[in-house]
Amino acid sequence: KTVLQNRIQTDVQVKPASTSSTHRIGILGGTFNPPHIGHLMMADQVYQQLGLEKIIFIPDAQPPHIDRKETLAVQDRVEMVQRAILDHPQFELGLMEVQRGGISYTCDTLQQLHQAHPENQYYLIIGGDMVNYLPKWHQIEKIVQLAQLVGVCRKGYEKRSTYPLIWVNMPTSDVSSTWIRQTVQTGGSIRYFVPEAVRQYIQEKGLYLKDEH
Ligand code: ATP
Repeated sequence: KTVLQNRIQTDVQVKPASTSSTHRIGILGGTFNPPHIGHLMMADQVYQQLGLEKIIFIPDAQPPHIDRKETLAVQDRVEMVQRAILDHPQFELGLMEVQRGGISYTCDTLQQLHQAHPENQYYLIIGGDMVNYLPKWHQIEKIVQLAQLVGVCRKGYEKRSTYPLIWVNMPTSDVSSTWIRQTVQTGGSIRYFVPEAVRQYIQEKGLYLKDEH
């Protein structure tokens, strides 16, 4: 372990591992419409700074908080996440929300993970913008029992939380899926803001050309 990892692990209040077979796993849920470098940077910083074993990217079927009619077809989002994490051996794709279908509640996902592997410790990674909404999350009290919250600073958002949370610092990036969609729609370049394999997929399939996502 690096000095930095040791320092961070002693600084923060990490729940103690219960058994030697405990795996420390990061969870990054999102709509990933599309996945971009902000997602990858935050996942990798949490992975490295907290010394986790792996990060599971979990695309939602239908997010509870979004009121737009429809997001992109779930198969396209899954394919893009797969492409985005391809060259990172410790990043995995989790299909539990897509397979469950319906509205994706983080609480149900954590419960599913916990039931399958009660010995594991889960770290729920949340962007700084979402941290403000935690009190409104469905079954938030249960969520904080099932996982350690990890907040990643995001530009324009304060480091405040009602719930115990580990803050991970990184140089903030303004990139969002919204910006990617809008930029494609207006004919701009998204090169370097998404992994090249994702950019090619968007281009080949002509995604986001119409203003409907
Ligand atoms: P949209 O613009 O469509 O709302 P998004 O860019 O926020 O999408 P999501 O898939 O909704 O992407 O986000 C998944 C998670 O990643 C959320 O917790 C979100 O806060 C976080 N996140 C996304 N982009 C960044 C970023 N640039 N910096 C920090 N966190 C981010």
